[in-house]
Amino acid sequence: MAGSEAAWQAANMGVQVVLHEMRPQVKTFAHRTGNFGEMVCSNSFRSDDHEQNAVGLLHWEMMQAGSLIMTTAHQHRLPAGGALAVDRDPFARSVTDALTSHDNIQISFEEIDTLPDEGNWIFATGPLTSENLGKAIQAETGADRLAFFDAIAPIVYAESIDMNVAWLQSRYDKGETEEEQKAYINCPMNKAQYEAFIDALLAADKTEFHEGETATYFDGCLPIEVMAERGRETLRHGPMKPVGLTNPHNPEEKAYAVVQLRRDNSLGTLYNIVGFQTKMKYGAQTAVFKMIPGLQDASFARLGGIHRNTFLNSPTLLDAQMRLRSKPNIRFAGQVTGVEGYVESAAMGLLAGRMAAAEILGKPLETVPQDTAHGALVHHITGGAEAKTFQPMNVNFGLFRPLENSGIKGGRRGRKDRYKAYTDRAKADWTAWLEGQA
Ligand SMILES: Cc1cc2nc3c(=O)[nH]c(=O)nc-3n(C[C@H](O)[C@H](O)[C@H](O)COP(=O)(O)OP(=O)(O)OC[C@H]3O[C@@H](n4cnc5c(N)ncnc54)[C@H](O)[C@@H]3O)c2cc1C
Repeated sequence: MAGSEAAWQAANMGVQVVLHEMRPQVKTFAHRTGNFGEMVCSNSFRSDDHEQNAVGLLHWEMMQAGSLIMTTAHQHRLPAGGALAVDRDPFARSVTDALTSHDNIQISFEEIDTLPDEGNWIFATGPLTSENLGKAIQAETGADRLAFFDAIAPIVYAESIDMNVAWLQSRYDKGETEEEQKAYINCPMNKAQYEAFIDALLAADKTEFHEGETATYFDGCLPIEVMAERGRETLRHGPMKPVGLTNPHNPEEKAYAVVQLRRDNSLGTLYNIVGFQTKMKYGAQTAVFKMIPGLQDASFARLGGIHRNTFLNSPTLLDAQMRLRSKPNIRFAGQVTGVEGYVESAAMGLLAGRMAAAEILGKPLETVPQDTAHGALVHHITGGAEAKTFQPMNVNFGLFRPLENSGIKGGRRGRKDRYKAYTDRAKADWTAWLEGQA
């Protein structure tokens, strides 16, 4: 996805591109063909609603920028309500034809296993980056900066947490500043609530690992349901331990267990549930997590998961132009940068392709406006996200800066107007940014 889009964008700006692809000689466990743009699982690019949905807005922005992936997706659209689902094989063949017949693109079927010192490179090798290249990246960045599995805890919109039940406090009030002492949101449970929660966790539908993925979990990122299977008290002595916390709504009663949420972005609009990586199915997750007091009306920016997924700690490694800080002739794009999904990956390819071509042409691009869907994502992965707990991210409105003086109601009641205002603001900024490059 990202490599195809990057090559297309750069080639259309007049730059000569060599597109390297290791398939079909070197295979991955998920791809079936040697085509570009192969969708490895679902055939959906998700919502196409560009007024009320952040991924739909990303579609819109990509279309304005002449995206190969998005234009081809619309050509091979299948009926799917508001979603952009496609006929996957004709879609991938069309993407492949467009790239192979482009005058400025040369294709080279080979595995790249080093980070070259010379030339302008974009590495868009995805969640299944080859092992040899993974080693070369680790040698450059440090082993702890490239992960091979994600361990995603659910992320909740801060505004949907009931602060009449939950409260702000770090364990033992640790921290120098008030902000640090109140860095976590805490949700208390009594014994009956905890027992019901454990029962629900144990009974919930779980997903299996895909063929070729190993089900070996790393220490420190066990799914919560696996922890619960090891003993009903395990969670209460692990991520849900109630120590060092006092509930200001009910100071006399000691909570039996506490679920903690930690800030996930510098804007403070998103919080992740600490230690709650999970393989529960999405429907089950929503039902189970809404049992947590304070999260009964929670809206989730993303649900949890654990997958085979190679990704960089981009906030520490990449600059705002998606270049590797230690080797600026190299850019990364796509899922390997810590975005998640076909659309987000292709969008990051679109940016990287344009940025690389503009640099080669001696006209470096202006910073991508932060209030666009592309800008919100690239800002998140290259600096806005918490580096220590960085995990892959979908595009969502929680990544967008709040509107200034809009007069729009907060919470659920103002949601429709707020999303429309976000998408209007994004469209104006994206259009101006593209016009600046014309
Ligand atoms: C099993 C699985 C299921 C998924 N299901 C979905 C889903 O349903 N919906 C969704 O939105 N996302 C899904 N994803 C995530 C999905 O992979 C990404 O959304 C998307 O494909 C990422 O795009 P990308 O361009 O970053 O990587 P890819 O599309 O994977 O492209 C990377 C390319 O780089 C090539 N490559 C890797 N290493 C090298 C090398 N060293 N030299 C040369 N070429 C190399 C690969 O062969 C591949 O063609 C899934 C991922 C996996 C692993």
